[in-house]
Amino acid sequence: MRIFLDPGHGGSNPGAVGANGLEEADVNLDIALKTGRLLQTEGYTVNYSRTDDTNVSLSERAALANQWGADYFVSIHCNSNVNPIYKGTSTYFYRTGTVAEELALTVNNALVEEINTKDLGIFSANFAVLRLTRMPAILVELAFISNPEEAELLSSEGFRQKCAIGISRGIIAFTS
Ligand SMILES: [Zn+2]
Repeated sequence: MRIFLDPGHGGSNPGAVGANGLEEADVNLDIALKTGRLLQTEGYTVNYSRTDDTNVSLSERAALANQWGADYFVSIHCNSNVNPIYKGTSTYFYRTGTVAEELALTVNNALVEEINTKDLGIFSANFAVLRLTRMPAILVELAFISNPEEAELLSSEGFRQKCAIGISRGIIAFTS
């Protein structure tokens, strides 16, 4: 089973930046690498769109997963809003009624159960990485980096590890 993990942003594109100065790209990468390590210990073959602080275009991320022949694609992001009150976890898929929608629900549920955030649910979205990938693909928004409380959580090693446990448990539950 081949899982392609896509840590959002990187390099010249830090993504959203928290009130505490935390950059989304760094959080995404750390949690993707932690998730990958957990999946590898469970026998999964894992690949990444990036493993360091570099900027990879959205179409290149999808192309890498397509060329590698991934069975599933999981993009990892933090959410952000101009209103700092927003918080919680959500997961996105491209089209309703697909395997990706089922995967999104399974991973979102496993994640919320592990990290105890507000469950915002799953949504259909026309994101390039979801549209351009040929395998079931989802995009996880772990929590809001724009919310001071969640930015603090996203800064912590323990919470990041829990995020990785939640994502990997969802993938394992869905694929076994
Ligand atoms: Zn993002």
